[in-house]
Amino acid sequence: MHDPNCLFCKIIAGQIPSKKVYEDEGIFAFHDIHPWAPVHFLMLPKLHLPSMAQVTMEHAGLLGRMLALAPQLALEQGCNPYPAGGFRVMVNTGRDGGQEVHHLHIHVIGGPRPWLKG
Ligand code: AMP
Ligand code: ZN
Repeated sequence: MHDPNCLFCKIIAGQIPSKKVYEDEGIFAFHDIHPWAPVHFLMLPKLHLPSMAQVTMEHAGLLGRMLALAPQLALEQGCNPYPAGGFRVMVNTGRDGGQEVHHLHIHVIGGPRPWLKG
């Protein structure tokens, strides 16, 4: 569950500070330290999975819950309503996918444009 060498496991455990957005028994969310846009937070399973590449049907419920929670958190964090507003959901996976931190996370990015990136 907890990888002692993993940055995001340490954030979930409170050993490294973060600006928390949401927490329940299986999910943790916090603001990205280098936001691309006015709203940019990360949603993580508390379970240490290195990336989307390790996801199997066993994780369908957990990932489904994360995606189902994203719209509510996006609005709470300041994304404007669909369709004029909206948000981007992104999961970088592996080196070719641009992944830097190897604990599965979903980026939720939004808010009024212009954005720094994307
Ligand atoms: P990825 O490239 O998908 O692995 O994204 C990793 C993200 O984690 C990047 O957007 C970083 O800005 C973000 N990040 C790295 N360290 C921290 C930290 N200590 N607190 C919050 N976000 C972080
Ligand atoms: Zn981890």
